[in-house]
Amino acid sequence: MGGDNTQITYVKNSTAIKIIGYCNCCKILRIKFQPNFGNYDYEKFYDFPRVPANVHSAFLRAPSKGQFYNQKIRDKYSNSRLITQLIKVGNDCKHFNKEGI
Ligand SMILES: [Zn+2]
Repeated sequence: MGGDNTQITYVKNSTAIKIIGYCNCCKILRIKFQPNFGNYDYEKFYDFPRVPANVHSAFLRAPSKGQFYNQKIRDKYSNSRLITQLIKVGNDCKHFNKEGI
């Protein structure tokens, strides 16, 4: 799960976020959401580009992942074309594996 450049976290006890991935090379934050959170397709990954490592770290430490996402990630990194559409896995970042993580 993940290569040397990527860090994958399976989130426990969150009704919002299922998986948090991060590529240290590309600064891409990759999220898989839980069902019924926002209008996201919970079967797909969403990539957020240009996310600093410290934001990823803070995300991992946040007691409420949904709240952190809504306040610190959703709007701040939503200018990207990637947020509203699923990119092909590996399209922008080659470091995640074929399963997307
Ligand atoms: Zn990458």
